[in-house]
Amino acid sequence: MIPYGRQSVDDDDVAAVLQALKGDWLTQGPHTEELEAALADVTGARFAVAFNNGTAALHAAATAAGLGRGDTVATSALTFSASAACAVYVGAQPTFVDIEGETLNLDPSRVPATVDALVAVHYAGLPVDLSRLAHRPPILIEDAAHALGALTPDGPVGNCAHSDMCTFSFHPVKAVTTGEGGAVTTNSSALAERLRRFRNHGIVRKPHHGGWHYEVESLGFNYRLTDLQAALGTSQLAKLSRFVARRAARAEAYNRRLAGTQVELPPTPSAGWRHAWHLYPVRVPERRRVYDALRAAGIGVQVHYVPLYRHPVYRQGYRPSDFPETERAYAGLLSLPLFPDLTDDEQDRVVKALEQEVG
Ligand SMILES: *Cc1c(COP(=O)(O)O)cnc(C)c1O
Repeated sequence: MIPYGRQSVDDDDVAAVLQALKGDWLTQGPHTEELEAALADVTGARFAVAFNNGTAALHAAATAAGLGRGDTVATSALTFSASAACAVYVGAQPTFVDIEGETLNLDPSRVPATVDALVAVHYAGLPVDLSRLAHRPPILIEDAAHALGALTPDGPVGNCAHSDMCTFSFHPVKAVTTGEGGAVTTNSSALAERLRRFRNHGIVRKPHHGGWHYEVESLGFNYRLTDLQAALGTSQLAKLSRFVARRAARAEAYNRRLAGTQVELPPTPSAGWRHAWHLYPVRVPERRRVYDALRAAGIGVQVHYVPLYRHPVYRQGYRPSDFPETERAYAGLLSLPLFPDLTDDEQDRVVKALEQEVG
């Protein structure tokens, strides 16, 4: 099966992990600091705080922002569960925003003026234009799990030009991997401090009471990344621009070869924007039949995503008809295999199989 996404791990990545394994720190240590410095450098944010996965990073961001009971948190209707779960984790209420058909991102003009926070998802790696928000919510968190390496006219995604915090995931299908892993970037030293504390049980060291003394000031979790993973992440991050360029070349090849077929191509970035191409989401007629046929042909297509308001845990109070653009897109969505090491032969197989089914 050709998967829809896959990591690229080379000998130098393996060497970096082995070297960390022989060091003094296996859990969070100097390699985690190195990864955080590298991520701050790549994104242009002042601070980066690493987490054990992207979902924990979102949970930490929602907590650091002070969100809780009584707050409403908007996010795209077309995203992974974690973008909304972070609101529920802290006792807040998620609410969903219909997408725009042209970008598959949440429609900035539809974000209710009354929400306390927005989790803006850069779907497939195409950044949401946050400058188009009619009202800047009090808290703005970017879920950039798809968008490490993407660029806006205001700089790299992750620099928090329009947001309080930006979260990333280092899951193997994402731009760079640590196995499981994630991070939050921010320009606020106060938020960075809260994120670090939340990651480590809420502990604050108070050596003036004795060298051993620490206090748990707020409830936290153990959301630390291991140093083995961080070493992998730093080695991977050094290759980010190559990975993104290879994804973009594959996306261009799909665009070229599928033009003129019944396959509707993914949104493309405007001048001054760079797509990170985490996903290559086309729209096809008779999606269910096409999905089954491609899967039977060994092509691991996926659907990103079942809209959040269709899940039992989120659907209270919503009807699919409240989200006409998301419904229209969802009816045909299909993510084709896209990853840096996708070969010419594999891509050719995908295109031919799709042409055979859709024409
Ligand atoms: C991958 C992903 C996450 C976080 O995932 P983890 O597997 O916890 O690292 C969050 N939001 C979106 C949109 C994602 O695709």
